[in-house]
Amino acid sequence: MTRSRRILVAGGAGLIGQHLCRRLLDDGHSVLCLDNFFTSHERNVEEFLRHPRFELLRRDVTESIQLDVDETYNLACPASPVHYQHNPIQTLQTSIDGSLNLLRNALRTNTPVLQASTSEVYGDPDVSPQNETYLGRVNPIGPRACYDEGKRCAETLFFDFHRMHRLPIRVARIFNTYGPGQHPHDGRVVSNFILQALENGDITIYGDGSQTRSFCYVTDLADALVRLMENPANVAGPVNLGNPEEISIRNLAEKIVSLTGSASKIVHCPLPADDPRQRRPDIALAEKILNWRPTTPLEEGLMKTIDYFRRLDLSLYPPPA
Ligand code: NAD
Ligand code: UDP
Repeated sequence: MTRSRRILVAGGAGLIGQHLCRRLLDDGHSVLCLDNFFTSHERNVEEFLRHPRFELLRRDVTESIQLDVDETYNLACPASPVHYQHNPIQTLQTSIDGSLNLLRNALRTNTPVLQASTSEVYGDPDVSPQNETYLGRVNPIGPRACYDEGKRCAETLFFDFHRMHRLPIRVARIFNTYGPGQHPHDGRVVSNFILQALENGDITIYGDGSQTRSFCYVTDLADALVRLMENPANVAGPVNLGNPEEISIRNLAEKIVSLTGSASKIVHCPLPADDPRQRRPDIALAEKILNWRPTTPLEEGLMKTIDYFRRLDLSLYPPPA
């Protein structure tokens, strides 16, 4: 049984954040969830509001932070291309200023801090699968750069705090993660395809659909984050976290149409600039140091997510700010 700790989860109301909060509460910890609800909704954490060990702080991570906690997870950042490109300067500030604020607070309290980094640091990779030694192929001036370069800079900040101040850090490079709790207007591929299929609307494949992704179910990912934070050898990372099962976007669309029994037709839309052609994590390091690999097969995770969206009252979710 681990000691009960007070844990700050910045971005705790988002897709991954809400599952992480639930997991940490179930493990007996106190959770301080900080969020500005830019890409989420207070409803995502409603079930925790009466929990005696849960606190909610409506706050922007770019504002300076003084909070006495034992651990910090930094998940605060829009993750969907539609939302992170909405105000690219704000996205960069969220990654960079937000990381600086949380790192300074962690330094003040000398407590570990974990950064939710991303497979986007590898850009449009020319190797597959991607392992942690691959330095990436990112376009620094394209429309995705505000997210990719913001996350790369955040990794730099984390490692410089580690080298200069011996601050205990963890850097997780998260690959595409999906599941219940995603905002219906999120705009990422899994929620788009499921909602389109449930409404028998057109399934919008960007490009020819031959590009690949590898999708990890959200509770598997939350488990990996906790294992990384708690790893006894204090490995800082970066560590790839994701599901190595790769699928083309076309096959994903067909699978979702079939699982929902939908009458939807597939239509093709323009491929966004710099959209990575392929993405598959090499998770050998996570398997070795965290004794972790995802356990939820894609179809099972998709069925749970479809069930979530089937039950969701969409009228309660206006498009995000
Ligand atoms: P999400 O958009 O559902 O959640 C992000 C949360 O951060 C939201 O609740 C949002 O309101 C909050 N937020 C955004 N800007 C903020 C700010 N300035 N101050 C405070 N809160 C802010 O996304 P997610 O999928 O849950 O992703 C969580 C983290 O994991 C992000 O940092 C993302 O970059 C990273 N990540 C996610 C994936 C994925 O596929 N889900 C992949 C790689 C990395
Ligand atoms: N995509 C798509 N249709 C959609 C949304 C996304 O074909 O309605 C494609 C997108 O072009 C990309 C892949 O699905 O190739 C994954 O997109 P997502 O926005 O989920 O995340 P990314 O991995 O690109 O950050």
